[in-house]
Amino acid sequence: MARQDKRQRLKELRRVMKLVERQGASHQPTPVEMAALVALVDTRLSTGRAAGRSGRAMALLGRMQDKSNDNAPGMDKIACKAGCYYCCDVYVSAQAPRIFAIADWLRETKPDLGAEIARLETADAAIRGKDVDARASAGLACPFLDKGKCGIYPVRPASCRGFFSLSAEACIAGARGDTEEIPTPAHIHPLRGAYEQALSAVLYHWRLPSEHYELTHGVLTALKDENAEARWYDGEDVFANVGIDRADDAMNPEMKQLESEFWHALWAVAHGEPADGPFADRFPDWCL
Ligand code: SF4
Ligand code: SF4
Repeated sequence: MARQDKRQRLKELRRVMKLVERQGASHQPTPVEMAALVALVDTRLSTGRAAGRSGRAMALLGRMQDKSNDNAPGMDKIACKAGCYYCCDVYVSAQAPRIFAIADWLRETKPDLGAEIARLETADAAIRGKDVDARASAGLACPFLDKGKCGIYPVRPASCRGFFSLSAEACIAGARGDTEEIPTPAHIHPLRGAYEQALSAVLYHWRLPSEHYELTHGVLTALKDENAEARWYDGEDVFANVGIDRADDAMNPEMKQLESEFWHALWAVAHGEPADGPFADRFPDWCL
């Protein structure tokens, strides 16, 4: 590739990165916006081996995702508001950097960390081993729910951050087990997916697991060992005993292969290279 082509790509990438950092990705993120998210996350996660880098990177990702949601069409129609929490008794999972960010936040904000760990252990004993269906029928509230509000709101997982309903009645019926159909604004799935894929692309490149771990057990694991984050970035599977979201397991090998080729393309574009492989045509203006 000519040096001039790479310079031109990097210039365009920097322009999109600035835009995305300021106002979030658009509600239907373009592949280049997703590559800009990859570059932004990679920059934050690459800053040394110091503990806390997950927190810094996830704070940025969360801020951008919130801005994307705020600017998306249909958000004036959502029924979600503080104190409404029928959606908080479902199975929740998160990728490792998000779990470390939550653990850090709890360390900073809970005056009695021992009591918090004991409280989470009690909740974990009831939740452990329950998959999505078992969790739904058990009707167990998320242990991070605090007086009707999310107690980890600033660092809540991407799945919670990216879920909105157009009908609180449908959520109530869903919590009773009467329906699985919750009407949502059209943008939420692609938007949430874009933010998850961006993080996955970075983890994939770094050869770190991109799986989603059950939230309560995952946070407890990170909270009980303050070196867990550093050991995980060094390649140790500190979440080996934590359940993995079955959505990750359910993908067949062809889907997994395609997904990793997409991450590979995103990574290339995020570093000023042309995308190759089956996703090259997703970056038409990029391949000069
Ligand atoms: S998703 Fe449903 S239950 Fe949750 S805050 Fe929105 S309306 Fe309320
Ligand atoms: S993490 Fe917060 S938003 Fe998500 S289910 Fe738990 S209480 Fe609800």
